[in-house]
Amino acid sequence: MYFILKEPHQAGSGHILLPRQFCGSDYFLGPKGLKMGSFLPAVAEQLLADIQRTYEDTAHIPDDLLIALTFVLGSCVLPALDLVDRRSVSRLSSPSGRSVFQVVGGSGRVYTCLTSCHFCPCPSFAYAVLHRGGALMCKHLLAVYLSQAMGVTQQDAVTDQHMTALLSRGTLP
Ligand SMILES: [Zn+2]
Repeated sequence: MYFILKEPHQAGSGHILLPRQFCGSDYFLGPKGLKMGSFLPAVAEQLLADIQRTYEDTAHIPDDLLIALTFVLGSCVLPALDLVDRRSVSRLSSPSGRSVFQVVGGSGRVYTCLTSCHFCPCPSFAYAVLHRGGALMCKHLLAVYLSQAMGVTQQDAVTDQHMTALLSRGTLP
């Protein structure tokens, strides 16, 4: 069984065929245990892993990695880095073991991102990823992945009730 992913920046043309075993939720634990293999091409996973390794050593992301990331993921890279620089990404965890990421967008609006199913509720994700299908992710979701890779995600504990409200409504109670 194969899943078909569109190649970045080639909407409507070239596709990558991924064997089913590489699309399972248990495949590939990315930076800080993020599961990304289900949704990203291997090259994007590798770039994020390289960024994590390099950033741990140098607290810096080299230009060649940023250029490569932009080539693969497109124009969302710089806005995502801006969100990371502003420490806009938080990981909310509840005693039940569930966790979600929240990203404060440029307008101040808070987006609850679900990395377990690679989803952001923003209009850009709905249009560019889900509807048009030419993009792999929005700036908020990439900010989550980058923030995790760089180890700068803010950690917040919430109650189970709070988590339930977040997951059912996607907003703060
Ligand atoms: Zn988004």
